Amino acid sequence: MEFYELVALERGSKLNLIVWLQNRSLLANPLRCAQCNIHMEMKKRNNHVDGFHWRCSGCKKKRSLRTNSWFEEFPRVSLGMLLLCIYYFVCEDTQRKTAQRLNLNQGLVSRIFRNLQDVCSRDLVERPVIPFGGPGTAVKCDESKFNHKAKYNRGRRAARDTWVFGIITTEFTPARGYFQVVDRRNIATLDPIITRCIRPGTVLYTDDWAAYRGMAARINVADHRIVVHARNFVDPLTGFHTQEIESCWNNLKLGQKMRRGIKRDDLQSYLDEQMWRQWRAGDHRHILQNFLAVIPQQYVFTNPAL
Ligand SMILES: [Zn+2]
Repeated sequence: MEFYELVALERGSKLNLIVWLQNRSLLANPLRCAQCNIHMEMKKRNNHVDGFHWRCSGCKKKRSLRTNSWFEEFPRVSLGMLLLCIYYFVCEDTQRKTAQRLNLNQGLVSRIFRNLQDVCSRDLVERPVIPFGGPGTAVKCDESKFNHKAKYNRGRRAARDTWVFGIITTEFTPARGYFQVVDRRNIATLDPIITRCIRPGTVLYTDDWAAYRGMAARINVADHRIVVHARNFVDPLTGFHTQEIESCWNNLKLGQKMRRGIKRDDLQSYLDEQMWRQWRAGDHRHILQNFLAVIPQQYVFTNPAL
């Protein structure tokens, strides 16, 4: 699926685009009338952004082409524009750039991108990436400070530091992880997250932060090893490599920088998006395809239109 293909769809006939979306289960085809329990028919609809709508030959009811689909979330934006927004989101283009390219309001693009991040978050719930690890694998737990975007008083230090707790596994190259915004970095907060994320038998690496002390007695791990300030540490026993871990964190921070900071309230959505990219996006040539395949899992338009 190439960019020029999407641009051609956006510029081409409305019907072509509709059929393309229907073939990928991104729009219902056909829509069923709940009252009459029959398939509705697609009819031309003049002076409307979609150019078509559904009509029931029984009760004469009319329904949008977007009924029960993701596209229903932004009814005034054309299907083609929304498809291009999805493309730019998948490519990690910034909201500002996307708004400029498509000549859309930046607030609207921001809402669309947030909505697409929610698609990632829900996919992580439906197809969880945790637990990972297990015998023969090693993970590293870290806490990292993410200075979020200050809403007011630019230049003043944020009133409260925002910490992200992460567990990264080197089972894969590049490394993958689980990341969560945490209010505190104490045992009561971190232990349950670790227990939830890793399988028994994993070798656990941490720094010498107080909350990690005595962890092997509390959590079912093969071993707990402490590594401090080691940028290029390699464990000869497990092949565990801190460089992979460092670059995983650096990528997260880089994405935050590209977005010119992320507000604390938006940070978990950003982390979910990045987790989705690490675990579910696949090869870069297939990200768009893989992302578009997730959307129909969450919008069940086989439900009849009420
Ligand atoms: Zn009907």
